[in-house]
Amino acid sequence: MIQLPVRDPCDLCVAARDEPWKIIDESAHTLTVINPWQFETGQCCVITRRHVATLLDLSDEECAAIMTSAKRAAEALVRTYRPLGVLTFQNNGVYSGQETPHFHFHVVPRQPGSDWGIGPPQLATFDGAGRERGTVHERDGDAERMTRVRVPVDQLVETVKRIRSNLPA
Ligand SMILES: [Zn+2]
Repeated sequence: MIQLPVRDPCDLCVAARDEPWKIIDESAHTLTVINPWQFETGQCCVITRRHVATLLDLSDEECAAIMTSAKRAAEALVRTYRPLGVLTFQNNGVYSGQETPHFHFHVVPRQPGSDWGIGPPQLATFDGAGRERGTVHERDGDAERMTRVRVPVDQLVETVKRIRSNLPA
């Protein structure tokens, strides 16, 4: 049984409903939104319009739409930032590092010298954070990093505009 995180209200439903400035791209089934924690400048997530928690809850139409939207986001990020690589990942359940109970597929432009490591951040810092395998992801060890990568709203707004201007037609 996959154990889900609790976040009430759901920050991604709030973003979809009340924070249009976070939205980079949209389709019938998805929204692409900027991540308020910019471990890498431009990192964003493709989310479902429906409030569903994990990969296992998706319809086939949503699955296809998510990958199409992720590709569009990756193309825009490459045009905008010329990254060395693009990392995509997605977490299902608290034991995988999921922190919001609303499906989201990360799309991250990787640059040299970032405060990240290889792989998703909660795994990249696994040993350094003192976590034990098979445990719930705790953010305690991440507090300083999370503070460092939280950027002001006006900066996020500019980032969204830049990426949006580079989306494929
Ligand atoms: Zn939600």
